[in-house]
Amino acid sequence: MEDCIFCKIINGEIPSNKIYESENFVAFLDIMPINPGHTLIVSKKHYENMDELPGELGEELLRVIKTVARAIVKAVNADGYNIGMNNGRAAGQLVMHAHIHIIPRFKEDGLKSWPQKRMDDSKLREIGKKIKKEIDKI
Ligand code: 5GP
Ligand code: ZN
Repeated sequence: MEDCIFCKIINGEIPSNKIYESENFVAFLDIMPINPGHTLIVSKKHYENMDELPGELGEELLRVIKTVARAIVKAVNADGYNIGMNNGRAAGQLVMHAHIHIIPRFKEDGLKSWPQKRMDDSKLREIGKKIKKEIDKI
């Protein structure tokens, strides 16, 4: 993809702080980290999002996530970490090249968790039914 910033980073046109590479993925530091050590794990091939990522890469991706997360936690002495992936603009995806965020967390980092809301049992059941029906179609 010609105009994709992550494709440019992967092929070396744009510099990055690369920390790891496997057959199909590259990990580099996010240029605007939420916390020190915030890293992006990016597919070498241009897939737009999770839906496009081939399932066969799942095992390798999980291995990369676990390796990189373990190293980040040790390197920055984190107390935990979040794994995140924004899929679609409505979900906050700004770079349309599939990537996973690994965000180290610290006890007193002041970051709040997502706002949750109570929902009626009947509404929960209704949504659950709809999702199960869609799963049966896949
Ligand atoms: P998204 O919102 O698409 O999930 O996240 C994109 C991330 O890419 C953002 O956290 C942003 O800081 C990071 N980013 C955008 N441009 C660059 C860049 O040129 N280099 C690096 N290392 N990170 C970038
Ligand atoms: Zn790309």
